[in-house]
Amino acid sequence: MSHVFPRHTKAQLPTAVAGDGCYLIDANGKRYFDGSGGAAVSCLGHSDAAVIQAVQDQVGKLAFAHTSFLTSDPAEELADLLIANAPGDLDRVYFVSGGSEATESAIKLARQYYLEKGETKRRHVIARRQSYHGNTLGALAAGGNEWRRAQFAPLLIDISHIAPCYEYAERPEGETPYDYGQRVANELEAEILRLGPESVMAFMAEPVVGATSGAVPPVEGYFKRVREICDQYGVLLILDEVMCGMGRTGHLFACDVDDVAPDILCIAKGLGAGYQPIGAMLCSKQIYQAIEAGSGFFQHGHTYIGHPVATAAALAVVRSMLDRGLVQRSAEMGEKLQAALVERFGQHPNVGDIRGRGLFRGIELVADRNTKTPFDPSTGLAKKIKKAAFEAGLICYPMSGTRDGVNGDHILLAPPFIITDEQITEVVDKLEVAISASL
Ligand code: PLP
Repeated sequence: MSHVFPRHTKAQLPTAVAGDGCYLIDANGKRYFDGSGGAAVSCLGHSDAAVIQAVQDQVGKLAFAHTSFLTSDPAEELADLLIANAPGDLDRVYFVSGGSEATESAIKLARQYYLEKGETKRRHVIARRQSYHGNTLGALAAGGNEWRRAQFAPLLIDISHIAPCYEYAERPEGETPYDYGQRVANELEAEILRLGPESVMAFMAEPVVGATSGAVPPVEGYFKRVREICDQYGVLLILDEVMCGMGRTGHLFACDVDDVAPDILCIAKGLGAGYQPIGAMLCSKQIYQAIEAGSGFFQHGHTYIGHPVATAAALAVVRSMLDRGLVQRSAEMGEKLQAALVERFGQHPNVGDIRGRGLFRGIELVADRNTKTPFDPSTGLAKKIKKAAFEAGLICYPMSGTRDGVNGDHILLAPPFIITDEQITEVVDKLEVAISASL
C-alpha cells in the first residue's frame, strides 16, 4: 500500500519510470506523448542532455548554500541572462522554487515597496476573474477561479476581481475587438477609483491566460491600456507568466508581443523545464532601489531561494532555448499545431474556439457552437477527454473554467518545443480519438 498522499486519493496512477524526448514512459513500458508539458513545464522534453549534464555537474560541485550567507555562480549567471533578455527596466531577479512562491512574493514585494516609499495606505491588489495565480493563500486570493477558492474563502485576503479579456466568450457582437479590450481594461480604472487610488498597490494578470481558460490571449491594445491606467494611478503592474512565459508563446516573455513591460514579472514552469523546481520574480530598478535605499532588506524568503542546482538547471535551460533557437521554434511549431487543430476540429460541432500563441494552444468545447453555450458541468467532459487521451497515450491538460457561473470545458496543449511535424499529427490523431470517445 502506498504512503504517498496523492492529489486524487481515489485514482490509481501508473508509475512514471523514464522520460524520452517528448514522451513519458510508465513501469509497464507504455509511452505517453507529453502534450501539455505537465502543465506547460516541459519545454525541452524529458531527456535534454545539456540540462542533465548541468545538474550533475552542479550537484557534484556545490549542492546547497544558504542565500543569507552566500551567493553562487549559477544564480548570478542566470540572473544576468534573464535580465539581459527581459522587457522594460526589469533589473533584479528574486529566485524562488515555483510559481505560487513567485506570485506570493510579488504581492509582498508590492506592499513593501510602498511602505519603503511611505505610501502606507496602499494595500489593495486587483486581479481578474478567470485567472489562476497559484495555490498558496496570497496567490489563491489573487486568482479568480471560484472552484479553487471556494473551500478556503474565509482564509483569503480581500482582492477584487475585474473582467478578464476573454474575447471568444465575452465580446458582444457589434463591438470591435479593440473597443472590447479598451472597455474591459477600463474596468481596472473604475475599480481603482472605487477603492481609492491611494489604497491600491498592484494589478496582477496573466498575459495569456492558462489554467482557467485554455490559452486565451488578450486582444490588441488591452495591455497597453492597462499599463496606462497603472501608470496614471501609480499602481504596479504584476504580470504572471508562470505558465505562458519562457518561450511558451513563441516569445521569451509573453508580454513582449503586447509591447508592455511590467513592474514585476513572475516566471516558473518552463524556467526549470521540469529538471529542477524553480521560479523567479523579476522586478524593476525602481522597486529594487526603493528597498536598497530604504530598509535594505526584503522581509520575505524561503530556504531554497537561489538554490545552486536549480539555478544551474535553469541556466542550462535558458541557454539551450536561446542558443538552439527554440523560442523561434515554439512560434513556428505553434503555428503548425494551430493549423493542424483547425483542420481537424475547426468544423466540429462542439469545438467553439481554437486559440493561443506559440506552443500554448487551447480548444474550447461547447454544447452549441452557434450560441457558444457551454456543456452542463455535470457532463464532466474535460475530465472524460483527459482520461480517454491518457488511455490513447496522450497527456493533455483539460480544464473547466467559470463562465457566467457555468463551467466551460477546455483542453490545453503545451507540448515541448522540440515537437516534430509527425508528432503534431500524433497529438491531433490521439486527441480526435479521445474527443470522439468522450462525447
Ligand atoms: N501562476 C500561473 C499563471 C499558473 O499557471 C500557475 C500554475 O499552474 C501558478 C501561478 C502556480 O505555480 P505552481 O504550481 O508552480 O505553484
